[in-house]
Amino acid sequence: MITKISHIGIAVKNLEESIELYRRMGLECEAIEEVPSQKVKVAFIPVGDVRIELLAASSPDSPIAKYIEKRGEGIQHLALAVDDLPKELAKAEDIGLRLIDKTPRPGAHGASIAFLHPKSTHGVLLELCKERDHNEE
Ligand code: ZN
Repeated sequence: MITKISHIGIAVKNLEESIELYRRMGLECEAIEEVPSQKVKVAFIPVGDVRIELLAASSPDSPIAKYIEKRGEGIQHLALAVDDLPKELAKAEDIGLRLIDKTPRPGAHGASIAFLHPKSTHGVLLELCKERDHNEE
């Protein structure tokens, strides 16, 4: 089951400048984390129950660097929280969506994630995200 919007991923060139922009708007960055598997640095900015995730490349061959090169800064993906990721992935495949990740992989913030290809979702890079269970911390 899809339970809510988990976060909105925004590709930025400069993490510190972007954090500062949101701070000036009254939103505080909660944490910064590096995700080596995706070659990104991620800043988490909670807005109510949803997070803005600012994504900056940590290496020139990062997918985020390539994204910015092609399309500029901006909203890069939308993450939907799910209760059971393998089950939702199977369901997505069943209804004909193209999976970028056939199996879940580790994302930022202790989550398991998998992406759906934007060519099969009307142009939106959708992430299915099983957030870390806070009871397990
Ligand atoms: Zn994400």
